[in-house]
Amino acid sequence: MTGDASTVRNVVVVGGGTAGWMTASYLNAAFGDRVSITVVESAQIGTIGVGEATFSDIRHFFDFLGLPEREWMPECNATYKLAVRFQDWREPGHHFYHPFEQLRSVKGFPLTDWWLRYKPNERFDIACFVMAALIDGGRSPRHLDGRLIEQEFVEADGVPSTIAEYQGAQFPYAYHFEAHLLAKYLTRYSTLRGVRHVTDNVVDVGLDERGWITHVDTAEHGRIAGDLFVDCTGFRGLLINKALAEPFVSYQDSLPNNSAVALQVPMDMDKDPLRPCTTATAQEAGWIWTIPLLSRIGTGYVYASDYLEPDQAERTLREFVGPAGANATANHIKMRIGRSNRSWVNNCVAIGLSSGFVEPLESTGIFFIHYAIEQLVKYYPAADWNPSLRDGYNDSVRHVQDGVREFLVLHYKAAKRDDNAYWRDAKTRVMPDGLAERLEQWRSKVPDAGSTYARYHGLPPYSYNCILLGMGGIDVAPSPALELLDEKAALTEFHQIRDKAQALLRVLPTQNEYFRRMRNEA
Ligand code: FAD
Repeated sequence: MTGDASTVRNVVVVGGGTAGWMTASYLNAAFGDRVSITVVESAQIGTIGVGEATFSDIRHFFDFLGLPEREWMPECNATYKLAVRFQDWREPGHHFYHPFEQLRSVKGFPLTDWWLRYKPNERFDIACFVMAALIDGGRSPRHLDGRLIEQEFVEADGVPSTIAEYQGAQFPYAYHFEAHLLAKYLTRYSTLRGVRHVTDNVVDVGLDERGWITHVDTAEHGRIAGDLFVDCTGFRGLLINKALAEPFVSYQDSLPNNSAVALQVPMDMDKDPLRPCTTATAQEAGWIWTIPLLSRIGTGYVYASDYLEPDQAERTLREFVGPAGANATANHIKMRIGRSNRSWVNNCVAIGLSSGFVEPLESTGIFFIHYAIEQLVKYYPAADWNPSLRDGYNDSVRHVQDGVREFLVLHYKAAKRDDNAYWRDAKTRVMPDGLAERLEQWRSKVPDAGSTYARYHGLPPYSYNCILLGMGGIDVAPSPALELLDEKAALTEFHQIRDKAQALLRVLPTQNEYFRRMRNEA
């Protein structure tokens, strides 16, 4: 193995999709030239080509790299995302938001609980969150001069930040961006700072007698040796699953959607409103995503192939999109749902789709990548490859993936829709361990930190409240204690949220106005 006696200095990243370039740029920003990084990327094997909606943690990634929005956003046709909008999951015409906003509590009870008791508004999201009204109104979370909306949010102060440092402080938005433009942007960022870029196919993986990777063989650039190998080869899992034979743990029994068809639909930001959210619209065998970008709409139907044929899925998607998508080429994708049993095996760490993936209903793919990279820095090995570091890493990554799985299963269990076999089967499908008991608890007490998946997985209890109350298929009762408590403070809180939303609606620009200004100033 190369490198000096005490540290792991030579990193080879195989794969140049979102995962490969996020990993290379982040490790470079963290370690500078103390670690040499090579990215090997095939020109023939394409990237997945989707993955455009993010989680609000992603801002820490850009902060860590020292990239302000005005630099990278226009290059990636990026927009703001304030929530996921769930459309038609309860019944046709109904929608609710899962916003990036912490839930307030009054007298120790979350506002959702008070909402169940007093119903000051039919919509829990409008009553409990300032954001919901802003999204209905198509607003930007920033004023035209760039100021963030007046909320109790934390702005990074020029200090490189991580998810861990900011846990508990919910930032009010995430981004939508063109995945391939971000990969290009990060390629430039990384190579300018010394990351080596090899465009070639990896044709073989060399192992020593212990099963550790010594090198990869490429078609035209010969042998590339390294200390640590990062597998970013997507669903192929070329190093982790193929060379090292690490088993794959499927989630398919509880999350049956295993296919997608995607279209890129032209749009005109001078005419079409830019909704500041990702929309997930329920369909007969899954759901359609709608992601507004400055250049186009990204859209796709995620479905279960046991219930729907690909050509029918494409027809439904084209009808949904209408004439604007008539000339768009459909991209059909098979999805591997689940995770590698361990993401770090010997001297190989899988990040991205090779590590694990769940359907993109809550845009968690890039969050998994970001979290994994931060953990890799945290658990970065020395030359003795202390197994405790590897085990700690695997434990935290596994819990993030398993926790998100549980959260997604809740969406289908809680959806009121039951008009065909797909939606009816969703109610009786096998559940991850512990979820059945938790669901039972939530019927009489809305989710809190003590009754949700215990390990960190990026979804705080308020997210569970949103899905449970928004989907409408599970009856939830308010806590009996609320009958006995003075309700004045809770009612005042509801009024304050409504007043604050109205005040912000009066002064905030729409997303179109905000990005027109950013574009004109670029
Ligand atoms: P890929 O993009 O597949 O990249 C694999 C790379 O490996 C490529 O560069 C390829 O050239 C290289 N490679 C493969 N084999 C070799 C070889 N032999 N030699 C050299 N190089 C090789 N995530 C979100 O956060 N939000 C979303 O909205 C979202 N939507 C999604 C929708 C769908 C339908 C799917 C399937 C995924 C979605 N994701 C989403 C997940 C997201 O797309 C991925 O997490 C992200 O793009 C990372 O992909 P990747 O880099 O791991 O793999």
